[in-house]
Amino acid sequence: MTYLKDRLEAVEERILRAVGRSGRKREEITLVAVTKVFPAQAIVDAYALGLRHFGENYVQEFDAKLDAVKHLGGARFHLIGHLQSNKARRAAEIFHTIQTVNRSKLARRLNEAGRTLEVMLEVKLSEEETKTGVAPEDLPGLIEVVRACSNLKLTGLMTMPPWSDDPEQARPYFRRLCEIAARNGIGGLSMGMSHDFEVAIEEGATHIRVGTALFGERKGR
Ligand SMILES: *Cc1c(COP(=O)(O)O)cnc(C)c1O
Repeated sequence: MTYLKDRLEAVEERILRAVGRSGRKREEITLVAVTKVFPAQAIVDAYALGLRHFGENYVQEFDAKLDAVKHLGGARFHLIGHLQSNKARRAAEIFHTIQTVNRSKLARRLNEAGRTLEVMLEVKLSEEETKTGVAPEDLPGLIEVVRACSNLKLTGLMTMPPWSDDPEQARPYFRRLCEIAARNGIGGLSMGMSHDFEVAIEEGATHIRVGTALFGERKGR
């Protein structure tokens, strides 16, 4: 917990410096604490330190933590990992925001679950095989489908640039996502992780997804 408090302070300082450099305001940025692989207690501890937004990658993993965290008033849970259509219904029940909507079928499944949900569309901007997400040329069609879904509230775009140790390598991807969002009248931008969130903030991020810098290295995945 003391580690977490220190790490959170360090992350907040990094956010403030990036916000200062880019002439933005701290309130424009939502820190999403990524708790995948860590036990439910990590969410409870982070909540006690004032964090309210949490990101998880797997429906089943978060489902197993749900009992331990569902009493946390005002906590918002974001799915930030790939979502299979057959898990959409459950995801709609346990998450507030699905950041990884990447196809019409998934949007329709989420809509059919009947619960009001915030969604972000995951955009694939790199050629890497492993990256899921909608291709920029298919985005307008997906936006149209999502906007026609009465239970879905489209709040943003999300992306993952190709991995690089050098955060500057991510900058063109972040910039491109920002341009695409502006062109489509979308306000939210979920981009930036532990090692590159300053660059993401400089390029307009509204949501940064931070795991390692808060909770330490993950074992395994
Ligand atoms: C794991 C993960 C993160 C957090 O990554 P860190 O480098 O640990 O901050 C952010 N976004 C997504 C989609 C992830 O899967």
